[in-house]
Amino acid sequence: MKDTTRHQGKRRQLAKIVEEKGVTDTKVLAAIAKIPRHFFMDSSFEDHAYQDKAFPIAADQTISQPYTVGFQSELLQVKPGDSVLEIGTGSGYQTAVLCELGAKVYSIERQQKLYKKTKLFLNKIGYRPKYLSFGDGYKGLPEYAPFDSIVVTAGAPYVPKPLLSQLKIGGRLVIPVGDDPQIMTLFIRTTELQFEKKEFGEFRFVPLLEDKN
Ligand code: SAH
Repeated sequence: MKDTTRHQGKRRQLAKIVEEKGVTDTKVLAAIAKIPRHFFMDSSFEDHAYQDKAFPIAADQTISQPYTVGFQSELLQVKPGDSVLEIGTGSGYQTAVLCELGAKVYSIERQQKLYKKTKLFLNKIGYRPKYLSFGDGYKGLPEYAPFDSIVVTAGAPYVPKPLLSQLKIGGRLVIPVGDDPQIMTLFIRTTELQFEKKEFGEFRFVPLLEDKN
């Protein structure tokens, strides 16, 4: 795996494109400009790494579009030291962005192949999420809850109750909800029992699947 000045230039361009599309958080943009996205894809597809596109990875899954990763990361309002839970580790790219933002990252993946591959890979390139879990994201991670924020990186047919209940008061859940397309939705836990809900337009994700391990 090589990271050249050409790659670095390309991803600064990518961060600019994401900014032009509306992401303003400078820390999120800096993470996109820094992370070698081409490492997260098969080397034969390297040319696609710095285009603002989702792309197929192993196990019929995709690495999310950089703009989408930027948009979701911005909505989370991560502060250094926050506990953040990600549902759908996939390639680990969103995981790496959260690590760059200084979060303690927990992430769940239901495809064993991806879980194993990404766990080794993130370590190899120097990212240290707190805990990567092989399991069903619908259940969240009760043993590590509550979280400052939770991001779902697959399209959810409905909002899983455990995810709402695993938020701190003031915590934020960012989740694309619906069939195809999904509506990007933010829930803020305002009290033990109350949530404020905001919607942010259409996105397209692979589906959040019910547990079939
Ligand atoms: N965050 C990833 C996006 C990967 S696509 C990235 O940046 O590359 C969504 C991922 O969600 C896929 O890897 C898929 O296997 C996983 N997924 C789907 N349903 C899931 C579930 N119920 N629990 C955990 N992961 C799930």
